[in-house]
Amino acid sequence: MLISSERIKDGIRKLGAKLTDLYAGKRIVVIPLLKGGFMFAADLVRFMDVDLQIEFLGASSYGEQTETSGEVRLTLDTALPLSGRHVLLVEDIIDTGLTLAYIQKLIKSRNPASLRTVVLLDKITGRKIDSEINECIFNIPDRFVFGYGLDSPGGFNRNLSDIVALKE
Ligand code: 5GP
Repeated sequence: MLISSERIKDGIRKLGAKLTDLYAGKRIVVIPLLKGGFMFAADLVRFMDVDLQIEFLGASSYGEQTETSGEVRLTLDTALPLSGRHVLLVEDIIDTGLTLAYIQKLIKSRNPASLRTVVLLDKITGRKIDSEINECIFNIPDRFVFGYGLDSPGGFNRNLSDIVALKE
């Protein structure tokens, strides 16, 4: 086990409080990046006392492998227009940075009033391109991890409460 559900909850509670302050008096759109970001986002919004709407974006870059293919595909797009809105993008994990860069470029092309990106896990040593992350809860080593929304090879185990690392 890499990160227990208690530590995850604690980190998300603190981030929720910080975002509550940052967005005081604003209406925002929270966009969980699917599939991996669904559990993080579901917990995060419950720690945020902010007027918010939810939209979803889906992206895929791994296929069924444990290494990124480097080719990002949009698998689901938002329904509401994002123009003029304050957007909070919620991502499970960043490794090379390719997925985030692709999604951020897409959102920015729609002229939001602001864009803020929060990630649960950062594999900082895997970075291939610079990324703009506003908040990250945990830095982790360059290991394939799953649980708490993230899948194991083959697409299972997203329902684990803890984050675990695949045996090397
Ligand atoms: P990047 O494009 O930054 O290399 O990878 C980001 C995406 O790859 C994440 O949204 C996630 O879906 C997937 N990913 C990266 N590392 C891991 C990992 O250790 N485990 C799982 N399950 N997915 C990962």
